[in-house]
Amino acid sequence: MNILEQIRKELPWLEDKVSYDLTRGKPSSDQLDISQQYLEKINQPYHMDGVDIRNYGLPEGLPSAKALGADIMGTSAEETLALDNSSLSLMQQILSCGYFLGFDKAKLDQNSKFICPVPGYDRHFKLLENFGFEMISIPFADDGPDLQALAQVLEQEANAAGIVCVPRHSNPTGHSYSDANVSEMFNLISQKKDNFMILWDNAYACHDLKPTIKQSSANEIAKNCGVWDNLFHLSSTSKITLAGSGIAFLSMSSSNINQFIDYRNSVTPGPNKMNQGLHVEYFKTISVEEQMNKLKEVILPKFELTEQYLSELQQEGLCEYKSPTGGYFFTFDSTSGKAKEIIDHCDQLGLKLLPLGSCHPNGIDSANRTIRIAPTFPDLQSLERCMQIFSKVVKYLN
Ligand code: PLP
Repeated sequence: MNILEQIRKELPWLEDKVSYDLTRGKPSSDQLDISQQYLEKINQPYHMDGVDIRNYGLPEGLPSAKALGADIMGTSAEETLALDNSSLSLMQQILSCGYFLGFDKAKLDQNSKFICPVPGYDRHFKLLENFGFEMISIPFADDGPDLQALAQVLEQEANAAGIVCVPRHSNPTGHSYSDANVSEMFNLISQKKDNFMILWDNAYACHDLKPTIKQSSANEIAKNCGVWDNLFHLSSTSKITLAGSGIAFLSMSSSNINQFIDYRNSVTPGPNKMNQGLHVEYFKTISVEEQMNKLKEVILPKFELTEQYLSELQQEGLCEYKSPTGGYFFTFDSTSGKAKEIIDHCDQLGLKLLPLGSCHPNGIDSANRTIRIAPTFPDLQSLERCMQIFSKVVKYLN
């Protein structure tokens, strides 16, 4: 009997041919129901901050929405823009503005290279690849990117012109960078401050599930290290209220704001202020902290369940993983270098995982080790089944 037949025999419910999916970090419908419950209690505003929000204009966003973003990101409202729904598409626009117009201290061209702490977020890599930028991988240390590796790249690569970081509950490794790591990183980068872009994707700024280190404002650290004009600090409410229908925020220096707004004025006559107004009203009925606590009630049991299976596999020496304290993901590293075989076998049993290499630039995971696990979307019962399939496949392949 081959492995697949054996597992099908042990898990008879596989005959139902239900498809299981751990690919994307999507909120579950239970999470979205929490947001809907509060949305139903509020009325859509049409005027706010003395502005008719039905109309074009206010390219920097509604003042109250900027204040909301500043609250989430730990920035100041004056230095924070409230824009449309996706921080990823803002990142695309930042790169585009850096490439076609240039920021004062971040001018990109086809020779620009981006430093990428790895494992990282597949959509970041695809975005950089789309611009034709070469990506240089560096590993992680415990408290953020490996700074020795970073120093080496900065010294050796004349065209290193940027870095992309997810500083809290990193996708997918769960790293939260220490202040010491960030200060040293920014100090190292300061040698390139005349032309360097720090993409600081703070997507999980307030997504703690367990006690997590406190972080100082990256803006303040950047100012102290002389790289404030190099920092592009992003976040959104996608994983707070409604994925795909939230507000994305961008915090940066006033000179970068001016340049970016000038660029954006040709992209859009203004952000969606109706949605910004709705979100401002939303957070008058429930604070961001209360909202995150409610989401935690849904997400934490899923993380605990996932961890039960991974810790058993780790104890048997079949994988390495770090217990995340928040965010949306786990990273599974196959100690025997069998990630592709695991992904393929799971697929044949109806469990979808991201393809091998998704957490690496250009899709290349030469050690055949890394699999991202995104446990938030399925309900608990389906997640249990996903992890049963996954765990049996890992055990039988080793
Ligand atoms: N950045 C990171 C690190 C993410 O994990 C995600 C979504 O999974 C995003 C950005 C997408 O955010 P948005 O919906 O604001 O584009």
